[in-house]
Amino acid sequence: MDGKVTIEEHFALPETLGPGAPELHRRLADFHGERIELMDRCGVAFAILSLNGPAVQAERETSKAIDMARRANDLLAEKIDKRPDRLGGFAALPMQDPEAAIRELDRAVAELGLLGANVNGFSESVGPTPQLYYDLPEYRTFWAAIEKMEVPFYLHPRNPFFDDMPFFHGHPWLTFAPWAYALETAMHALRLMCGGLFDDCPRLQMVLGHLGERIPFDLWRADNCLQKNPKGMPAKKTLRTYMQTNVHVSTSGQFHDPPLHLAIREMGVERVLFSIDYPYESMEQGASWFNQAELSEAERLAIGRTNAVSLFGLELDL
Ligand code: ZN
Repeated sequence: MDGKVTIEEHFALPETLGPGAPELHRRLADFHGERIELMDRCGVAFAILSLNGPAVQAERETSKAIDMARRANDLLAEKIDKRPDRLGGFAALPMQDPEAAIRELDRAVAELGLLGANVNGFSESVGPTPQLYYDLPEYRTFWAAIEKMEVPFYLHPRNPFFDDMPFFHGHPWLTFAPWAYALETAMHALRLMCGGLFDDCPRLQMVLGHLGERIPFDLWRADNCLQKNPKGMPAKKTLRTYMQTNVHVSTSGQFHDPPLHLAIREMGVERVLFSIDYPYESMEQGASWFNQAELSEAERLAIGRTNAVSLFGLELDL
């Protein structure tokens, strides 16, 4: 399929490159060279880029987080300005300070033309709460503000603090993408849903990568158990309702038909969007899988392009 749109693709600032092979670093720093060549070859018309992780979220000093988010968003906007026909962007946000995050999102959307926020999981802080999850009461003004701006919030994975999780000790292969990322991100998304965020902000739209960070697979069981014994859960509706009303999922790093079909069955085809997670994943692998995935052509068009056009209000020049 030509004319695909992808929404979880990454770049880096020099200080967020992190460990990795020279090829990965080269690709994270590139905007207009190899990236566009690969997009051409893989039938990707438009890519919405975001700062790699954990970046701003791992900055424990709030003033440094504010500064890093600002520099990342300025750089991204400058690069998009040179290829607005092919590239869009998500804002990085200093969630350590909810008011600063609102200001930066407002600036990024209104002045820089970015299309929403992409946040790398919980934020670290030197304050009394070292891991800031966004269901905490101090984030309600942030959520009200982003709902009012009508732009999506992408909750991107990061590793949990393994010091607090002894069952990971001695099993490094289960950290990062093979298991820990989805464990952490699903927990954060469920805290938001179960805490009643979408009752307070019914128009808010959140995006989860990796076909929903395993939530679609367990949706029936979680709802079934919570209905029998909600233990004082604040949420007024079922998780299924929120997943079908307030959440979208992307195929980033999940290039396999069965979980794709499960996400479509549980959430509806209009809530599933194509993505790759380049350069952490292979653009060729993601695109060639999607082109041949078992889908009707109407489903392929919706997931590959038109759902993203609707969610982000894109005007593509195809
Ligand atoms: Zn990613």
